[in-house]
Amino acid sequence: MGRLILIGLAIFAVFLVLRRIRWPQGHGLDRKSRRFESTVRCVRCGAYVARRHAETCDDGPVCRIHATDPER
Ligand SMILES: [Zn+2]
Repeated sequence: MGRLILIGLAIFAVFLVLRRIRWPQGHGLDRKSRRFESTVRCVRCGAYVARRHAETCDDGPVCRIHATDPER
């Protein structure tokens, strides 16, 4: 009886190890492709733009439209 429980635990342990090996690969790729990009708010029009697309002026971050034409 004790041996049966031991075999059951061994199978369960192998199952857990296999699951741990499989999961990070599939989910790791998914997580890398879905990259988080921080945004900033344009001080002129209030639009949210990706930080790498935003320009910075004296008042703060601005979108491309207001960076090229501040009078708009
Ligand atoms: Zn703007």
